[in-house]
Amino acid sequence: QQVANGAQVIDINMDEGMLDGAAAMVEFLHLIASEPDIARVPIMIDSSQWSIIEAGLQCVQGKAIVNSISLKEGETSFIEHARLCRRYGAAVVVMAFDEDGQADTYQRKIEICERSYRILTEQVGLPAGDIIFDPNIFAIGTGIEEHNNYAVDFINAVKWIHTNLPGASTSGGLSNVSFAFRGNNPVREAIHTVFLYHAIQAGMTMGIVNAGQLGIYADLSDDLRERVEDLVLNRRADATERLLEIAQSVSASVKDNNAAEDLAWRDLDVSGRLSHALVKGITDHIIEDTEAARLVADKPLDVIEGPLMDGMSVVGDLFGSGKMFLPQVVKSARVMKQAVGHLVPFIEEEKGAAQQSKGKIVMATVKGDVHDIGKNIVGVVLQCNNYEVIDLGVMVPAEKILQTAIDEDAQAIGLSGLITPSLDEMVHVASEMQRLDLDIPLMIGGATTSKAHTAVKIEPAYDKGATVYVTDASRAVNTASALLSAENEAYVADVRSDYATVRNRVNARRQKRAFLDLGDARANAAALNWSGYEPPVPRQLGVQTIAPSLTELLPFVDWTPFFMTWELAGKYPKILEDDVVGEAATQLFSDAQEMLQYLIEDGRLQARGVYGLWPCNRVGSDDLEVYADEHRAEVIATLHHLRQQTPKPDDAAPNYSLADFIAPRGVADYIGGFAVTAGLHCDDIVAEHADDDYASIMIKALADRLAEAFAEYLHAHVRQHAWGYADTEDLDNQALIKEQYQGIRPAPGYPACPEHSEKQTLFRLLNATEHSGITLTESFAMAPAAAVSGWYFSHPESRYFGVGKIDQNQLTDYAQRKGLTEAEATQLLRPLLD
Ligand code: SAH
Repeated sequence: QQVANGAQVIDINMDEGMLDGAAAMVEFLHLIASEPDIARVPIMIDSSQWSIIEAGLQCVQGKAIVNSISLKEGETSFIEHARLCRRYGAAVVVMAFDEDGQADTYQRKIEICERSYRILTEQVGLPAGDIIFDPNIFAIGTGIEEHNNYAVDFINAVKWIHTNLPGASTSGGLSNVSFAFRGNNPVREAIHTVFLYHAIQAGMTMGIVNAGQLGIYADLSDDLRERVEDLVLNRRADATERLLEIAQSVSASVKDNNAAEDLAWRDLDVSGRLSHALVKGITDHIIEDTEAARLVADKPLDVIEGPLMDGMSVVGDLFGSGKMFLPQVVKSARVMKQAVGHLVPFIEEEKGAAQQSKGKIVMATVKGDVHDIGKNIVGVVLQCNNYEVIDLGVMVPAEKILQTAIDEDAQAIGLSGLITPSLDEMVHVASEMQRLDLDIPLMIGGATTSKAHTAVKIEPAYDKGATVYVTDASRAVNTASALLSAENEAYVADVRSDYATVRNRVNARRQKRAFLDLGDARANAAALNWSGYEPPVPRQLGVQTIAPSLTELLPFVDWTPFFMTWELAGKYPKILEDDVVGEAATQLFSDAQEMLQYLIEDGRLQARGVYGLWPCNRVGSDDLEVYADEHRAEVIATLHHLRQQTPKPDDAAPNYSLADFIAPRGVADYIGGFAVTAGLHCDDIVAEHADDDYASIMIKALADRLAEAFAEYLHAHVRQHAWGYADTEDLDNQALIKEQYQGIRPAPGYPACPEHSEKQTLFRLLNATEHSGITLTESFAMAPAAAVSGWYFSHPESRYFGVGKIDQNQLTDYAQRKGLTEAEATQLLRPLLD
């Protein structure tokens, strides 16, 4: 829940009388280490007992933070604990405590922090960057006069620490400060918001907060902000009473605020109305307001360069500072487009000078790849910020990208891709830029791209210009503006040195990489007990087609990834109530329902799929033979799988291959395959919304969701009916999303079967293109993009895993089994080699 709400560190505390704290800490840390979503955030091990902290330090991976140590029990144990933290490589929270107790005044806070700092840096040798001071946040507004200055003391101490104790960070537990107002959350949130605003300005680097419950300083009403500020900054003696006076009404008004403001904006002057329409994404009156602005302007162009651009920079600023979210920005862009669309004929009539953009960027999804939702979003965001974007679409060959960049005299190129073969294609584009002597910046983004790949593979191919990996749409504008500014040398030099560091790290890791001998890895295969197991026999062998209506698929939609597409973090349905993104998420979700209704009524968007079930056995250790029928004499396909080759720290764990989950000859086993799409005619529908990015991105995102829902729906159908091994299964959508069923449906290109060309075999077995309308590109991407394909394994022990890296011997062996040359295999397996 914490991570889903955006926490950047999670604090774990097992100090409870009835718990064995150390054992609970260890068990919990082990559990979360295997949850990818959680494991990516650092862990703060929190206990008042050193033994529990140390138990935690022994099993946490990466750099932990210890919470906390202090001089409470004197220097000896302080130093001993600090030394151990250093040995474990952990950072430490140091509480402003000493032998005399906790520091409550400014003077005591800074004295204790300074003394701790000296001991830690001089005697223990702890790097200053690993020290986080917590100078104690205490409750204000308690009615006790001595407490009135607590917040000010904290803020001043933070400022002092950042000036005088170089390298150290500061932190504090936020909820204490508003403790006197328990029961009134709106007021508490306002206090937290104001307190943080000032503490962060003083340098505060971290805070312990409820990640889902933070307000925005600028959003507080003036009156509330002033009264809260009086209290926090101890500006008047009656601050507490004055805040109490309005406390009740604050908690009540938070709710009906939204309704009241609805139409008031129509009374603003015309630029105010345009700005409001842009920020709120309202198209209702945009033509009428744009026209009104045009009538009072000297030239129609002035409307764009004046009120419209001003409105868009408000949007840009709000998005940049996390106060607006992606779906809202894309809606703002739609408002902008309509306004500009209205003005263009007038501008042309006047032959006005072209608008001065911040720069021209050519964007494309590379050859062989068809995914463009992310790229389109980035394009919209850049356009909102006054960049001219030339979007070449999907499956664009290198020559076309480069020729366009040259012809258009573009200032940058942006490449996008989703599947692993696109990584190589990006390297190719980079080396072509080098060959053609280009020196404009190259921006890289998309699901399989990464900073590491960009640094290790792409940048070295193109050293004449800058190459930068862009994490997501919210970073695109900053990156573009840094790259395209006239003084970009410092930024580019920073990126280059950062990437050189990444390269060194990756290379060092590669040198250290150890592989099991392929034979040893195979000897450690998952040994399923076939003698005591009878594989379920499908009720229906061979290939079947299926074409459910969109309405049948709706109950199977997993909405959480839909919000991720729009860069809204949180799990559905809770995200709709989220304090930070709830409003944006609710609006987005309601727009999505409306669009779904439209798509259903329109009737063109269609779902079509095909699935097959065949007799199958393992041959050798990593291959599967698929047979025409129960005689198991005629082999209609051989499926080639890869095997994990990295040594397992725990000897009990096998080196998996998907082949392990199918019985060897002698036991009658079966395998299934499927290919589904919910994207038929998607492009036609999107084309009708070419001037409405919000609608076209929405349609594509919904088609993706429906395709995944189709995969879920079909898998259930196969388990319960066609294969029939789970005919008593009764799972709701939540349970399906959690995959609480028997069997798996690994998708070629994903970690357990990362080699994409196996999709060709799957497609041939299913006759998938004819039956479902899905085709494969030269990189084995499926078109339409809203498509899913994979294998079905029924064994209860079958599971997902990642093959990981493999060595050259496995590559050679794979090439021989598959009848490929070494070079062809290298091409297909490159991401697994380096
Ligand atoms: N509910 C999600 C389902 C898609 S992600 C959604 O609507 O988006 C889960 C799917 O990814 C699995 O069903 C499987 O097809 C694929 N997958 C996940 N991990 C995999 C792995 N390690 N190897 C192969 N395929 C995997």
